[in-house]
Amino acid sequence: MEEYDYGIIGGGPAGYTAGIMLATSGKKVVLFEKDKLGGTCLNKGCIPTKAFLHISDLYSKLQNASSYGFQTGNITFDYKKIVDKKNQIVDRLRKSLELTVKNSGIKTVYSKACVKNKNTIIAEDKEYIVKNIIIATGSKPKEIKGLEFDGKFILNSNDILNLESLPKSILIVGSGAIGIEWARILSAFGVEVSIVEMAEHLIPQADIEVSKRIERIFKQKRISFFLNDKIKKVDNKKVVLMSGKEHTPEKILVAVGRTPIYPECDCKSILGDACGEIQLAHYAIHQAKAEVLGIPFNKKLVPSIIYGEPEIAWVGIKEQDTDDSYQKNILPISALGKSWCDDCTDGFIKLITKENKIFGAHIVSKEASSLIHILITAMQNNIGVKDLQKICFAHPTYAEGIFDILMKCN
Ligand SMILES: Cc1cc2nc3c(=O)[nH]c(=O)nc-3n(C[C@H](O)[C@H](O)[C@H](O)COP(=O)(O)OP(=O)(O)OC[C@H]3O[C@@H](n4cnc5c(N)ncnc54)[C@H](O)[C@@H]3O)c2cc1C
Repeated sequence: MEEYDYGIIGGGPAGYTAGIMLATSGKKVVLFEKDKLGGTCLNKGCIPTKAFLHISDLYSKLQNASSYGFQTGNITFDYKKIVDKKNQIVDRLRKSLELTVKNSGIKTVYSKACVKNKNTIIAEDKEYIVKNIIIATGSKPKEIKGLEFDGKFILNSNDILNLESLPKSILIVGSGAIGIEWARILSAFGVEVSIVEMAEHLIPQADIEVSKRIERIFKQKRISFFLNDKIKKVDNKKVVLMSGKEHTPEKILVAVGRTPIYPECDCKSILGDACGEIQLAHYAIHQAKAEVLGIPFNKKLVPSIIYGEPEIAWVGIKEQDTDDSYQKNILPISALGKSWCDDCTDGFIKLITKENKIFGAHIVSKEASSLIHILITAMQNNIGVKDLQKICFAHPTYAEGIFDILMKCN
């Protein structure tokens, strides 16, 4: 019978981060993974979608190449090769992760595991004696009644990753990060995309001005959306919405959130998506770091990012959470020379401040996913508007937009 300091179930960002930190600090660790190391993030989530976003954006840019003086013929693509490219990126990153995990001294068991009691994990009929158990089993796509996944017509975020060919049309249910990113990918490849969202606006969790700007951008891109609406029924591939509108999409993608996977046990350490808090890879990673190294992080300052062109990033409070005591300033991205050079002028930087302090930051812009960290650093460390105004921001950059907007704040 093998004995370990820690038994970790789940090899996604939460599990492998905790495992690597524990093993490198000298603990004996066994990690159980029933599928592939890297979990949802690396194999079915963050990484494959960003690879597709990059490729679909490249395709859009190539189609627009003549406006820069390039002479190109008719640009076409082989979707199977695009999926291969995505797989190469994922495989390469996974091999690198497997090596890091191996070199850290973790024993990895590729099997489904279950908890027998607080010191015993069972995998493939074998018992592992452990002093501590960490559950990092992640989550799975949420199913809704009447829209059960069949992998052919009604898809989830796993099914859509490996389509052999693109559909002519798709109806996306839900406009959170997953729905918006897939709308962007598919629309860029020429798929007719519609979104049905039960809330009043797209990306209901975002600042209202962010939602409205994305709605405007989507209209320009001819991505149609139906707000305050839901699917009433699907009848022989005909979709009827509550509003009475009817659709006959070639496929439906259900992107309405994820359900935690939590094995029955009374374990105290539950990390990542399994704990049902914020379901993001960086939240999982920092939770693991807090658990293992005792380095806390501010859960109110976890950034939300939606990728694609333009990126969307936010942290802190939103317009709809504020009253008149807050100051709200907006800088259009088109005010920045860099945005014209990059041909990415649609978007804004919005700051919500009060008495020299930043309470919320909302960015729709190229590089928003990086820019937001400047503001998080200030918010986390109580660096006020007046101190940030003293920083020399380089020109021409998107970051100087932060300087410009800070100069508008009192
Ligand atoms: C399409 C999509 C795009 C996303 N994009 C982003 C993004 O851009 N940024 C971001 O921060 N987050 C993103 N996410 C969310 C991110 O993937 C998750 O928050 C993150 O993977 C959670 O990490 P985790 O370790 O908790 O769980 P997971 O990554 O789900 O890993 C859990 C692992 O546990 C294994 N497992 C489960 N049960 C058992 C068992 N009994 N025995 C053994 N192994 C088991 C699973 O096989 C899995 O590998 C995205 C998700 C999706 C679906």
